[in-house]
Amino acid sequence: MKKLIQGIIEFRRRHQKTYQENFGRLVRGQNPDSLFIACSDSRVVPNTFASTNPGDLFVIRNVGNLVPTCCNEPSSDGVAESAAIDFAMQSLRVSDIIVCGHSECGAMSALSDGLEKLSSPHLRNWLSNGKKSLEKLEDNGYIKPNFFHLSRHNQLSQINTLQQLDNLMTYPTVRSRVESGELQLHAWWFDIATADVFYFNQLSRQFQLIGEGPLKDWIFQDSRFPDENDSL
Ligand SMILES: [Zn+2]
Repeated sequence: MKKLIQGIIEFRRRHQKTYQENFGRLVRGQNPDSLFIACSDSRVVPNTFASTNPGDLFVIRNVGNLVPTCCNEPSSDGVAESAAIDFAMQSLRVSDIIVCGHSECGAMSALSDGLEKLSSPHLRNWLSNGKKSLEKLEDNGYIKPNFFHLSRHNQLSQINTLQQLDNLMTYPTVRSRVESGELQLHAWWFDIATADVFYFNQLSRQFQLIGEGPLKDWIFQDSRFPDENDSL
């Protein structure tokens, strides 16, 4: 807490004036072009690794960067995520959704180790949204050569990141905008050890480092999402 207060004082002293012009514009409203869905993990820092500024990203963060599937039985589970997705689609009309998983994710470790071992019923309930990802890992259908050097929980994390694109497509507001070409979905993966960010290349079907190859490869992707029959 002390660090936070000192940070505010430092911000006021050194940076506030620089940001005032930007915030002065933002007071009229936000117009981010991307919805960014990430884990709550304190080490995942999109403002740092993507050099973003206030107003750039509309953000959902939760344990495990999970997107509960839409439109099942009425339930309070995932209501916040669903509301934020609808808002991003209908009001902000963002052009891109990025789901960003990460290495050494505690949520993925817990899922991989077995949810029955968790003492928190809330965590057990929430992480059950990742069961489909675990099934895909255990089916052992993900066969890309740059995948097997990863630990089991990091493999699960990459599969889980991709699974969330499937889950996003269960939202009618997302599906209709993807199908009309107004919206693209992207899977990114942040490696904590190196601070590298990878994107999922739909053509090679591998996570590839952002920073290698032409810029268009990382932006203008085919937003077709992996489906049940793909080799995930
Ligand atoms: Zn995490």
